[in-house]
Amino acid sequence: MESNNVRQAFLDFFKSKQHEIVASAPMVVKNDPTLMFTNAGMNQFKDIFLGNAPRKWPRVADTQKCLRVSGKHNDLEEVGHDTYHHTMFEMLGNWSYGDYFKKEAIDWAWELLTEVYKLDKSRMYATVFEGSEEDGVAFDQEAYDYWKQYLPEDHIIRGNKKDNFWEMGETGPCGPCSEIHFDLRDEEEVAKIPGREMVNMSHPQVIEIWNLVFMQFNRKANGSLEPLPAKNVDTGMGFERLCMILQGKKSNYDTDVFQPTIARIAALSGKEYGKDEKCDVAMRVIADHLRAISFSIADGQLPANAKAGYVIRRILRRAVRYGYTYLGFTEPFICKLVDGLAKQMGHQFPELVAQQTLIERVIEEEEASFLRTLATGINLLEGVIKKSANGKISGKDAFVLYDTYGFPIDLTELIAKEQGVEVDIEEFEKELQVQKERSRNAASQDIDDWQEVMAIAESEFIGYDNLEANIHIARYRRVKSKNNVTYQLVFDQTPFYGNSGGQIGDIGYIESANEKIEIVATEKENGLIIHIAKQLPENPAAEFRAVVNAEARQQAANNHTATHLVDYALRTVLGTHVEQKGSMVTPEGLRFDFSHFQKVTAEEIREVERLVNKLIRANYPLIENREATMAEAEVAGAIMLFGEKYGDKVRIVNFGPSTELCGGTHTSATGTIGIFKIVSESAISAGVRRIEAVTGDAAEALVYEAQDTISAIEQIVRSPKLVQAVEKMVENNAQLGREIEEMRKEKVAQVAASIAAETEAVNGIKLIKRTTTYSSEVMKDLAFSLRQRVTEGLVMVIGNLNDGKPTINVMLSDDIVAKGIDAGATVREAAKLINGGGGGQKHYATAGGKNPDALDSAVEKAVELIMAKLN
Ligand code: ATP
Ligand code: MG
Repeated sequence: MESNNVRQAFLDFFKSKQHEIVASAPMVVKNDPTLMFTNAGMNQFKDIFLGNAPRKWPRVADTQKCLRVSGKHNDLEEVGHDTYHHTMFEMLGNWSYGDYFKKEAIDWAWELLTEVYKLDKSRMYATVFEGSEEDGVAFDQEAYDYWKQYLPEDHIIRGNKKDNFWEMGETGPCGPCSEIHFDLRDEEEVAKIPGREMVNMSHPQVIEIWNLVFMQFNRKANGSLEPLPAKNVDTGMGFERLCMILQGKKSNYDTDVFQPTIARIAALSGKEYGKDEKCDVAMRVIADHLRAISFSIADGQLPANAKAGYVIRRILRRAVRYGYTYLGFTEPFICKLVDGLAKQMGHQFPELVAQQTLIERVIEEEEASFLRTLATGINLLEGVIKKSANGKISGKDAFVLYDTYGFPIDLTELIAKEQGVEVDIEEFEKELQVQKERSRNAASQDIDDWQEVMAIAESEFIGYDNLEANIHIARYRRVKSKNNVTYQLVFDQTPFYGNSGGQIGDIGYIESANEKIEIVATEKENGLIIHIAKQLPENPAAEFRAVVNAEARQQAANNHTATHLVDYALRTVLGTHVEQKGSMVTPEGLRFDFSHFQKVTAEEIREVERLVNKLIRANYPLIENREATMAEAEVAGAIMLFGEKYGDKVRIVNFGPSTELCGGTHTSATGTIGIFKIVSESAISAGVRRIEAVTGDAAEALVYEAQDTISAIEQIVRSPKLVQAVEKMVENNAQLGREIEEMRKEKVAQVAASIAAETEAVNGIKLIKRTTTYSSEVMKDLAFSLRQRVTEGLVMVIGNLNDGKPTINVMLSDDIVAKGIDAGATVREAAKLINGGGGGQKHYATAGGKNPDALDSAVEKAVELIMAKLN
């Protein structure tokens, strides 16, 4: 069974069981402070499980792109070394929200696996939760009994809390789970040790394929459990593992999901897969990481120096590193694999095909830059190895290489080992730990349980139409971070816009009969709009008037609308390859990142500005449809963003020729934006440009600033023809410079001639000793001019003081040098007196210093040194 059919069969099966089939959410998570990447199918439904939003359907199924490289689930180190953990993988899942529970979940899992996929029943095992005394949860008899209908009792295994009790996080929904494991081993091995003894023992051929989670509790901040009012089912099955079983393979990498990529890596490296374990691991790492990186970039997460972007960068570097060390790649190669991946997976995930060029460019640039880092790192490491005492590299050195130069520790170890040197891993780990603690402490927060004031089904955002409203606080909680306590408030309805979609949240206040409380920020988290206040109302149950700061909101709205107009203008001026890659909208200005493969020229910027300003003057009114279907949005030609999670109902925002899907707040008509001005254009990574711009007041201020500069120049040049006047000044200046230079040369020649004439030889030595106050160029010219005139016996020692900085200058003729006098050594020694140093050649040297008072004595010293040798 081909992998594409395996996936389809899953979706078809659950469709036949009345499940709504939904799209995979983006792999990069927004609006959830606890999660950077989707690591399980349930993430996109978290707001429903948390009770922040009502369910949309009672039953849902999908395939979800997951990434397990950080936080609670981190499989990165295993990937490539084993055959069944990936960084990115697809999780097939079905869900019930207060609808069916354990019985149907187990029945259908069994039916699908044995009747549709026709898996061998004798190789299947199920685990059920044994219970936990500390949590007061009993053995999951119910699940056990359902499995007993299908499996012999020795194929049902009791599992502990670690394996069979699932929790979303420190707090929140949780419950017992029941996993299905499959034994892939050969008959002889099965005969030796029965499968039940191998379950959950990390054997690569006795693996978990499906986890059925029965959410029935809520874990509170104090650790206790309370039953959930509506019980939910959440299941996740590893798609690649399922393909392995159905295709009769022993490794995920031997399936048609990975084989085409591995074949390309083999061809590019000239090495065969399956011949050498180290090369095989490297090929698996690369085949795996290629997917993780490509899908992240497609979802809008570019490699970067912090947070999610840094995680992606590290994955990419890991792949480059394995290719470099084991497959001999010294030039970018991962970028060459994108094309094949896009062809293979583009049908299910069209974002890969649509953004192929961008993905390739970004990867190529990252690879090239990391390969350079590797070269630098290897040089540094060679140095460290050379100076390593007693055949050991200190953990500190290894850590600096790792932390500052991105040089992986295993590579440091490998190279060191090749030269018979060890790395102090213990010390390295300690350093690493210290760093981790540091960042953890900086970010650590204590979040209390929500305190419910009134029960609500959902908090409605009414801020598109209102800037004020009467509201009630539905729940609140206290958040304590480093010496700072804030309160998060949720209202029954709110006019406050919560930070999302690149637009910063509203500020304002809430006021009751007795008190007024400032709202300093508004965030959006798992579908909840959270108002941040520095204090809690004395009576949270009172009715409040919630008031948004109207001016800040209007400015943000102007900038958000301007962002749409810029998007339209860029696509018109530069071409439709322009895709939004990020944006930031505040009352002060806007930032817009987009894919484009070269610098935007000054003329293009002007053209974009002109077009945007034209659209502003056309005063197009906002036309919106808040309840559009995706199909309607497509008909309207609305611009949608990759990596954005759209619900079943979307909001279409239209201003004249610009139509986008957007949840942000916008102005009523483009005219309120006033004017638009771009302030900068730059690259943020290969293939992604950034424009920063301002509108209205801020743009006006920019114009005034430019005008003021011009007026100031006018005052100086005293002419209305500014450009000509300045050009003339520059020209005059250059002419004057040339004239001065000529005069200076003449003057120097005159001075040199007169000095040469008045200097007499004593014992064949013509000593020129004085202190002067020339510029350094004149000083140098003079020295060379003297050398030209006095070709024999020249000993010139001049102390020069220029702008308060003393120098000693020594020039000698060749015969003096031949007598063993060294100008360089002389000035070095003499300059000590003026607290300085310097040097030069044997015949000519200068040294600067910091103490002008000692200049005379330094000159004397230099003369003394020379004379002592000549006599
Ligand atoms: P394992 O113990 O094998 O790491 P898990 O307990 O972490 O699995 P779950 O969190 O229950 O797995 O995820 C549900 C399913 O997703 C698993 O049954 C498995 O088939 C699949 N899965 C989990 N992690 C990975 C991974 N890193 N790569 C591929 N598939 C995975
Ligand atoms: Mg795991």
